[in-house]
Amino acid sequence: MNTTDLPERGWVTRHGHVDLTGRPALFLDRDGTVIDNVPYLDDPARVSLLTGARETIAAFRSAGYAVIIVTNQSGVARGFVSPERYRAVEAAVLAALGPGLVDATYVCPFHPVHPWRKPEPGMLLAAAHDLGLRLADSTMVGDTLADVMAGARAGVAHVTHVLTGHGVPERAEVAAWVNVREDMNLPRLSFADSLGNLYLRDLG
Ligand SMILES: [Mg+2]
Repeated sequence: MNTTDLPERGWVTRHGHVDLTGRPALFLDRDGTVIDNVPYLDDPARVSLLTGARETIAAFRSAGYAVIIVTNQSGVARGFVSPERYRAVEAAVLAALGPGLVDATYVCPFHPVHPWRKPEPGMLLAAAHDLGLRLADSTMVGDTLADVMAGARAGVAHVTHVLTGHGVPERAEVAAWVNVREDMNLPRLSFADSLGNLYLRDLG
């Protein structure tokens, strides 16, 4: 592949310097999965962790998972969220979780279509390439069908759909999509009320 064929990359922040080579990843949607969903969030004061998110992330980390946030931020392309405000919110998310829980954040600031924008798998694939992650043992958690599809297209082992954020109206879409795609080699799919209700044993 010629370098000119590569898509423009979104934004990547590496939090910390742990060598993640060979590890499975916990890929997390941000808005509506880790924090309360606020459309076009650009105010760090409005960052609010969802109940149990920190504990679940900590448990996966203890089990050896790399923790990667993969977030669509079309508000940047739409002009609603400046890069500086996005950065302030990202810092607030990290601060709310506490030190050492997230290894990297991948951001798609593009709209409407881009290889990094979920449901496309570009952010997960880029993270796996950049960090040497073991996609086939990884898991993706999100509140929308786009999150589920991005995980499936990236080839992760397991996808969990949560009911927080847009999860309630999206649940039927996820269930319908799975039925249509039952001939595909799908990841295992599970349903949880929230990230806080996701346990490692559910992935077995
Ligand atoms: Mg979301």
